[in-house]
Amino acid sequence: MAIRKIREEGDPILSKVCRPVEKMNLRTKILIQDMFETMYNAYGVGLAGPQVGVLRRLCVIDVDGEHPYVFINPEIIEQSGEQTGEEGCLSIPGMCALVTRPEHVKVRALDLKMEPFELEADGLLARACCHEFDHLDGIMYPSRALEPIHPVDQEGEADAEAEAAEEEKL
Ligand SMILES: [Zn+2]
Repeated sequence: MAIRKIREEGDPILSKVCRPVEKMNLRTKILIQDMFETMYNAYGVGLAGPQVGVLRRLCVIDVDGEHPYVFINPEIIEQSGEQTGEEGCLSIPGMCALVTRPEHVKVRALDLKMEPFELEADGLLARACCHEFDHLDGIMYPSRALEPIHPVDQEGEADAEAEAAEEEKL
């Protein structure tokens, strides 16, 4: 396994729409292993293909360090409710902003064996799915944020909801 370079905001690859993964092969398996290693190394909870320079519809997510998920060609087939909280991104280090996302999503995707599965996700996992799947369409969270992005450690943050929300790097 290897840690890959994480592309940062301003890199044109991050605004491109990814193509579907058509079949699983050794190269893609290694890519996915590398994406997990790169994500954990950066203390992130999610990482999408374009963030490591690969314009394919796949991402990895692990919001609690115990439940690693691989999503290939994912789509959100149902969503409900809403949650507003601080969101960050490994491609925009040190910054965050409030973003409203659905509280609950139902996801359909392919797994490592290219077999379809569905997942119901709430809270942070739902947020991570929305954030990562956006990356596959070249969408970064600042375009969905309720406010300008700002440094994570900014003093004077008085918003109780923002303080209560965990800032996560996706
Ligand atoms: Zn991100």
